[in-house]
Amino acid sequence: MEELKQRILRDGRALNSEVLLVDSFLNHQVDPRLMQKIGMEFARRFREAGVTKIATIEASGIAPATMTALEMGVSMVILKKSVSSILSEGILQTEVFSFTKNKAYQLTLKSQFISPEDRVLLIDDFLANGEAAFGAIRLIERAGARIAGVGAVIAKAFQPGLEKLRKAGYAVEALAPVREMREGRILFADD
Ligand code: 5GP
Repeated sequence: MEELKQRILRDGRALNSEVLLVDSFLNHQVDPRLMQKIGMEFARRFREAGVTKIATIEASGIAPATMTALEMGVSMVILKKSVSSILSEGILQTEVFSFTKNKAYQLTLKSQFISPEDRVLLIDDFLANGEAAFGAIRLIERAGARIAGVGAVIAKAFQPGLEKLRKAGYAVEALAPVREMREGRILFADD
């Protein structure tokens, strides 16, 4: 997605060869107009996938997932990273290791919000090692639903998540696939 890639080149910053900072427009301050276009692009790419529901992981996936759900005319479910005391009945949980926080958390889903008839499109801001995506997939499949696809706003193609998901048979779309980050330069895989 050209506009997104140009925005990453303009406002993103490679902290080092592994971590990309895009907090001025994607996951801290949010540009809603760009988010709307991201939602339209995911909706276009997954139009034929029979999507009945969008799922995402709090918090950074919520904005792109909401826009995608709005565009596709389906509901959106937020998988939680912390368990609230009022969320005790019918919950599914799985452990996920966080790339950015360097610690594990319990990803949680109230099973009533995803049913066996659903075909779920998983949307997240970043795809790195794939821990978060595989955790979300485990929960969704445990709820009996099928994965219609996985959409990452940014996928760092030099980390294993993208390849692992594709090898496991999931349809993955990355709007900005990053091939390499070197000396502050960001290079895209599809350029
Ligand atoms: P994974 O589980 O695929 O290793 O990492 C996915 C999660 O880690 C994403 O949901 C995102 O929040 C965070 N993440 C991974 N890599 C980056 C990065 O380079 N920059 C930022 N800002 N977040 C990242």
